[in-house]
Amino acid sequence: MTLATASDAPTRWNARFAHLGDAFGTPLAPRPLPAPYWVGQNLPLARQLGLSNEWMASNDALAVFSGNRVPEGSAPMATVYSGHQFGVWAGQLGDGRALLLGEWDTPLGPQEVQLKGAGLTPYSRMGDGRAVLRSSIREYLCSEAMHALGVPTTRALCITGSDAPVRRETVETAAVVTRVAPSFIRFGHFEHFSHHDQHAELRLLADFVIEHFYPECAQVPGNPYAALLQAVSERTAVLLSHWQAVGFCHGVMNTDNMSILGLTIDYGPFQFLDAYVPGHICNHSDSAGRYAFSRQPNIAYWNLFCLGQALLPLMDDQQQALDALESYKTVYPDQLFARLGAKLGLLEVDDGDRALCEDLLRLLAQGRVDHTIFWRRLSHAVASGDREPVRDLFVDRDAADGWLARYRERIASQGAEPTGRHMLQTNPKFVLRNHLGELAIRAAQTKDFSQVAQLLSLLQSPFDEHPDVESHADFPPDWANQIEISCSS
Ligand code: AMP
Ligand code: MG
Repeated sequence: MTLATASDAPTRWNARFAHLGDAFGTPLAPRPLPAPYWVGQNLPLARQLGLSNEWMASNDALAVFSGNRVPEGSAPMATVYSGHQFGVWAGQLGDGRALLLGEWDTPLGPQEVQLKGAGLTPYSRMGDGRAVLRSSIREYLCSEAMHALGVPTTRALCITGSDAPVRRETVETAAVVTRVAPSFIRFGHFEHFSHHDQHAELRLLADFVIEHFYPECAQVPGNPYAALLQAVSERTAVLLSHWQAVGFCHGVMNTDNMSILGLTIDYGPFQFLDAYVPGHICNHSDSAGRYAFSRQPNIAYWNLFCLGQALLPLMDDQQQALDALESYKTVYPDQLFARLGAKLGLLEVDDGDRALCEDLLRLLAQGRVDHTIFWRRLSHAVASGDREPVRDLFVDRDAADGWLARYRERIASQGAEPTGRHMLQTNPKFVLRNHLGELAIRAAQTKDFSQVAQLLSLLQSPFDEHPDVESHADFPPDWANQIEISCSS
């Protein structure tokens, strides 16, 4: 089934996940929001999905994306999952405020559509089923920033808002983010059925994921579920290499926030690093630093271990699961150094380059050097030959000079390739620093949504210069340190 024409509303839906059966969730309509309004629309994505500007401007679209009208043919549901939160089994969780409307067949392929903040579900536990404007804007902007940086992620189509009060630390207002992804299945979906010894459902789910997303796993000799675990481990390794290379801190890497497709999912207290501080903790609720920046790759492996344990009933023995997880240990570092090598403008990365990368990261950490600005200045230095702006970032100039000399030699060994220009397309000028999001949020809280739109458009081309908003590429202001982002959203 496809959208009827590019200018139509999404009227024809699939419900592949819902067809898995009653055990997988609860059919449920979104709860209407009073007097909704638009906060942001990602029209480039809408067009890619086959939705016209005309329809996106219509009252019908506003009603659909605020949860006030259930689109004809959709079969909204909340899905059930469980998971480990902060290293501890948390039992049943599930879509407590996100509703799966169903699945569109789009020019980008089949895409599931979720409304996040669409009201109470059977899985809301103590929550109110809502999302506040503040956190919705952060998810909306960051999904698209990550996509433009080439990081696998769920996407965000639009935000609607309402003056309906939502109580967090203070009274805020409600919003709904519409997000899309080929699938929103999480590690926690598997953990749920495994924990309850629902092996038939576990197998159904695994077969579903293999059929639609990892068909190669059905072809390889041996156990297909071990092959699935290995494939998910490898995709997760790729994802983590992206996060670490771009300086992204997720903040809540619970197993229910891990995508089976290796996508960045559930943007909460995330942060792009300002200074390169490996131990940085971006989540104010994470007092022990479990999800500190430098711990993310190991935490991902821990989470994969939980997934492996959940899949055990479908495997022949435990060793099969352990073997399937092994690839993470090689794919992650290989991918990370390939990415760092690309950031350095290396055309090929050899074993000797690892020391160059590791020494650089040590220097950046020692000097608490701004991550994004360093890489951008380095790219300009290679393009122009002027190293001073890079040296200026370091307190220990001698150490910086030592590393820069090694680096210059390595770059020279590649011949006359136009490396600097390529680096400027690899190392972004703009990332969604906390303070930029915060300024857009403060404006939006006074009903000025223009900064949300401007930031979205800026972050959709983060490698370009944008001289009109030069200051967005500056060092963060002092008050950025005071921003406290917690799980409250
Ligand atoms: P998170 O930490 O945002 O990934 O959420 C963990 C669990 O809490 C998931 O099951 C969410 O659906 C649920 N949850 C978070 N916030 C709310 C809320 N305001 N209302 C209902 N459920 C929520
Ligand atoms: Mg979550």
